[in-house]
Amino acid sequence: MSGPGDRTSAVAASRLRIDPVACDGVGVCAHLAPDLIELDRWGYPVIPAGDLSRRELAAAQRAVQGCPHKAMWIERVDAPVPANWGPAAQLS
Ligand code: SF4
Repeated sequence: MSGPGDRTSAVAASRLRIDPVACDGVGVCAHLAPDLIELDRWGYPVIPAGDLSRRELAAAQRAVQGCPHKAMWIERVDAPVPANWGPAAQLS
């Protein structure tokens, strides 16, 4: 449980995930989100490994909704952030 005295808080981030077994490699997702997803030489998607920006999240949602095999999803990650993180901490 968290409270005002805690030294950390949580920031939600989103990451795109894929099940390589369920993916058929046809590449519908890359057509729906061309700025986010590339295809490798065999036609399988190459997705960003890190946290999605707000703009990338919208593209990722289109890809997830359009995947015919439900092989792609968006994972929410609550990353702990130390209390002394950020610009305010640098001023002290
Ligand atoms: S749309 Fe789904 S099944 Fe097709 S390549 Fe993308 S992740 Fe794989």
